[in-house]
Amino acid sequence: MFTTPLLIDNKDVPASGNASFDRLNPITGEVATRSAAASVDDALAAAAAAAAAFPVWSAMSPGARRAVLTKAADILEARTPDFIAAMRAETGASDVWAGFNCHLGANMLREAGAMTTQIAGEVIPSDKPGSFAMGVRQPAGVVLGIAPWNAPVILGVRAIAMPLACGNTVVLKGSELCPKTHRLIGEVLVEAGLPAGAISVVLNAPADAGAVVNALIGFPAVRRVNFTGSTRVGRLIAEECARKLKPCLLELGGKAPLVVLDDADLDEAVKAAAFGAFMNQGQICMSTERIIVDRKIADDFVARLAAKAATLKAGLPGTPGCVLGSMIGQEAVDRVQALVSDAAGKGATVAVGGSAEGTIMQATVVDHVTPAMRLYSEESFGPVAAIIRCSGVEEAVSLANDTEYGLSAAVFGRDVNRALAVARQIESGICHINGPTVHDEAQMPFGGVKASGYGRFGGKAAVAEFTELRWITLQTEPQHYPI
Ligand code: NAD
Repeated sequence: MFTTPLLIDNKDVPASGNASFDRLNPITGEVATRSAAASVDDALAAAAAAAAAFPVWSAMSPGARRAVLTKAADILEARTPDFIAAMRAETGASDVWAGFNCHLGANMLREAGAMTTQIAGEVIPSDKPGSFAMGVRQPAGVVLGIAPWNAPVILGVRAIAMPLACGNTVVLKGSELCPKTHRLIGEVLVEAGLPAGAISVVLNAPADAGAVVNALIGFPAVRRVNFTGSTRVGRLIAEECARKLKPCLLELGGKAPLVVLDDADLDEAVKAAAFGAFMNQGQICMSTERIIVDRKIADDFVARLAAKAATLKAGLPGTPGCVLGSMIGQEAVDRVQALVSDAAGKGATVAVGGSAEGTIMQATVVDHVTPAMRLYSEESFGPVAAIIRCSGVEEAVSLANDTEYGLSAAVFGRDVNRALAVARQIESGICHINGPTVHDEAQMPFGGVKASGYGRFGGKAAVAEFTELRWITLQTEPQHYPI
């Protein structure tokens, strides 16, 4: 069992009254982590520490900030075994997924380090004689980052890396489902030499999430909020941020379509569909949830995808031959199975999978899904690919857009001009042609449209999110005034 205190001012801090909560291993039901459960006052102490550290960190040179972030990347990579152990115990993740989390998390820190010298402003021609005008980007203040459990290292690092690169200090509000994993991110940055208070990690019992998050949003020095999680909670965060007039970046749920046009390379499309639908048991915001296939090739495609899915065994993490692991909990399995039964009861066919033992659910392909079925529109966040058959390009586009979400998408077709035309009509923040819906790189503008949220993480787009753009002028000659 792990025990996990709060991280405030580079120190291990118990919660007020030694309050704690337990995160159970989703597979065994044993206590995976006993975590400190922050009160509102504890959370405010963390925000105050971040506010006190702001003058120190924001005044450090870009090179000094880069050195810390780059060192943190190396430490994170070196501590991969610790992250694998924590993710396995807290989320039931496979070692492959946990290892990939560390790889991309380290890359995000390196990319953020490189961006410290790219936080550029501009000189803007002024109409006023003798006025030298600049647009200057400055750190905003304290940034609150709220991350979920499903890609805990990637999304926890993402919540704080570019904000730190821009000279802000940060409070990471960890997930109740992986407190140890999120806390490790803070430890890595402290070990890399981040000044005291520049990062705090706040962990709270599930019932206190709303109160803790609202208190943090309301703290005066908190100037930006970023949230990765469900659309339901994202709306609550957006409402609270609106009340406090704090800009927020929201990375929310998805229902990514993968469109297979009649001229697609089916081998490539099947590989991408299987990876996109089943990696991490479909518990990725970009997971392929809907496969929209032209009727002309649908039978062939479904047969090949079902054959591929049958080879992707889910089992206890670490079991040889099992590339898929556990889902996050029994409730999640029950929800996904209810979606599959609802579809089957309304005329869909389960081409492969459907079974689960405890929290281990096998890769599942459901064919002939229609708008009458819940699986057509609800995010499953599980290892289920819904096949929706279409006739021609126009219907493919209209089905792809028939969703409240708009995070990621993919189009497969050998006529790349036609595939590009389809991609451009899909309402999503991200679209890959002849590649899977699951694809993330640190330097890319990552984010969604519609109910998948707004704002962009990654590279230059993140600089705009996490800095204040100020207009500063210098008068270079005596000025004339009308009065
Ligand atoms: P969730 O929204 O249930 O929880 C996320 C965070 O919200 C947790 O830290 C929790 O403490 C906090 N929270 C819960 N109730 C709250 C409240 N009332 N007020 C304020 N904060 C509250 O999400 P989850 O189930 O942990 O994650 C899965 C969801 O995240 C899926 O919908 C998935 O698509 C989405 N997701 C999106 C992205 C993306 O980049 N767009 C990435 C990963 C996951």
